[in-house]
Amino acid sequence: MKLIGPFTQILPLTGLPLKGALKDEQLYIIPNGGVLVDDGLIVAIDDFEQLRLAHPSALVEEITGDHVLLPGFVDCHTHICFAGSRAKDYALRTAGKTYLEIAKAGGGIWDSVTQTRMADEATLTNLLLNRVQRHLAEGVTTIEVKSGYGLSIDAELKQLRAIKTAADKTQASLVSTCLAAHMLPKDFDGTHSEYLNHILQNLLPAIKQQRLANRVDIFIEESAFNASDALNYLAKAKQLGFEVTVHADQFTTGGSEVAIQARAASADHLEASTDREINMLAKSDTVAVTLPGASLGLGMAYAPARKLLDAGACLAIASDWNPGSAPMGDLLMQAAVMGAVEKLCAAEVFAGLTFRAASALKLNDRGILTKNKLADMQAYPCNDYREILYHQGKLKPDRVWVAGD
Ligand SMILES: [Zn+2]
Repeated sequence: MKLIGPFTQILPLTGLPLKGALKDEQLYIIPNGGVLVDDGLIVAIDDFEQLRLAHPSALVEEITGDHVLLPGFVDCHTHICFAGSRAKDYALRTAGKTYLEIAKAGGGIWDSVTQTRMADEATLTNLLLNRVQRHLAEGVTTIEVKSGYGLSIDAELKQLRAIKTAADKTQASLVSTCLAAHMLPKDFDGTHSEYLNHILQNLLPAIKQQRLANRVDIFIEESAFNASDALNYLAKAKQLGFEVTVHADQFTTGGSEVAIQARAASADHLEASTDREINMLAKSDTVAVTLPGASLGLGMAYAPARKLLDAGACLAIASDWNPGSAPMGDLLMQAAVMGAVEKLCAAEVFAGLTFRAASALKLNDRGILTKNKLADMQAYPCNDYREILYHQGKLKPDRVWVAGD
């Protein structure tokens, strides 16, 4: 048993609804708080001195100086298993070329596919692990990682094995997702629907058998897959036992409706969503995931986060960290900057980075700090939680715990 503290403030993020708008007055704050941890789980969270008196035999991990404690962040959407750089794409984009123009000119996702296919598995694992460790040091204790730069049976399996190997070498929790349906690979001899059938028959059963992923994602867009092919693919993936998620409404609408019809865990992007999609998402159990890093990287508008919350949706915020549209990968900075533009209060930003993001991954053992939840936590060197978003991502945690360690 270990007692960690005292913290100037603990924000356990308990007692907040899973869906809809929040106010900072709803935040429960424990002053001079402590956390009692045993076997990776929170045993109690309360006034530090009271916990010390009640548990005199507990080992004390003393925190000196002002600190504000939050649950560890959950980044529910990343593509950080890749090789190579797309700095050339970025330069073309800032010179005025569009995402679709760059893709049609031979850049874009296919460039990352080529470089990821060339990398051997150990190299790919190390590249991924470096990004995971940076995220973990910045308070992100659970990280979803997608494949999707392999786009052949062997190369997708290589990516998913790299994610599994990296997961064994880091304290952070990694959640892998098969995104073989990222785009139609240029070297596949067949139509979009033939490619999806190829994946359903030859890749997804192998992934299940080798326990490499429990989630399947698809990119629904004019440059990728259409709504009817996607709906069929997601239904069959569910029959094989996968949880499903969708890249939806990034440039055009249609994807979020498929996500809701397929009862997907989440619909991610939503930059193009209109009131119609916003209302559908709000009525559904599908988590709306906004990806401000992609808006920053592409120089495009943010998803309508304020409207989604006001309509009653469950809104999560993820980094979309990837070599093309979102190379920065700084989740807190992205969330803070989007929050300033979209007018999200601190409670809404923190909820979107923690328990609401955990629900997008169907994880109910983390994201809030209370008895029997994982002791995944991060401490910021300040005396008031409002300092964290005020510094717009430059204030980083100076201590991060995963399962209490
Ligand atoms: Zn993405």
